[in-house]
Amino acid sequence: MNGCFQDFSLHNHSNFSDGESSVEDVVCAAVRSGVKYVGISDHLCLHPGKPGTMGQKDLEKYVQHVRKIGNQSNVHVLLGAEVDVPITDDEWKLCAELKQKYQFDYFIGSVHPFSCYEDKLAMKNKFDTDLPSLLKEHSVYWSQVYSLAQSDLFEILGHLDVYKVSGAQTEQYFIPEIANVLDVAKVNNKIVEVNTSGFYESLVGEQLPSNKIVSGCIQRGIPLILSSDSHNCKHVVRDFERGKNLVTKLCGAIATRYSCAQLKKIFNSYHAKLR
Ligand SMILES: [Zn+2]
Ligand SMILES: [Zn+2]
Repeated sequence: MNGCFQDFSLHNHSNFSDGESSVEDVVCAAVRSGVKYVGISDHLCLHPGKPGTMGQKDLEKYVQHVRKIGNQSNVHVLLGAEVDVPITDDEWKLCAELKQKYQFDYFIGSVHPFSCYEDKLAMKNKFDTDLPSLLKEHSVYWSQVYSLAQSDLFEILGHLDVYKVSGAQTEQYFIPEIANVLDVAKVNNKIVEVNTSGFYESLVGEQLPSNKIVSGCIQRGIPLILSSDSHNCKHVVRDFERGKNLVTKLCGAIATRYSCAQLKKIFNSYHAKLR
């Protein structure tokens, strides 16, 4: 296993959404890296017209392809999706129907604040010049994350505190909101990912979420997994070792290697069908 922390990797994008690699290449890279389970988790967005995401109409092809590659591979391939937080009641309903219809193994629930990706500079400017309106925006972010944590549709909460990639770190203003999110995540058996892609965000340079939030998960006994959020097959287990060291440091003890058996145990509580 090349000393890797986990023998699975669940947050990987292919060219079905905004990834650069085919599903085949992601799976091959996973085999080479030594993981036993690899999940494909392309962006699924039920709001209309969001670039780089799949919509409902793309799902049939995606599901069939991921399952086909899974059947041909000697690594376990899981069918996942990184789902943009549903907003309306209809979107929530549709999301549940699609998960059931296509028998997804898992959903990663994520909030993607438009401005933190599309216009990082604008968000940072707001931080410097119009903090109240930025805080309003980030307050919406945490309330949407809360809705993900509360729902039983999502196994994994994706890249918490992602808005900081703009350099606008507002965590200090949301201590109670974040505590509420983690409390409800614990009650609803969520897994929180430690997303190593943050190491490569030049304006933040740290994993998502922050050390404080990771510690909050540890204190509550919320399971943590490492995710690379790969958009290229070269990054399927990128910086898992660094992530492991970080979690170990924050745990105050040597974190034991996360195994498929443990993952299975967690997922079994959601009746996921791991083969
Ligand atoms: Zn995302
Ligand atoms: Zn992602």
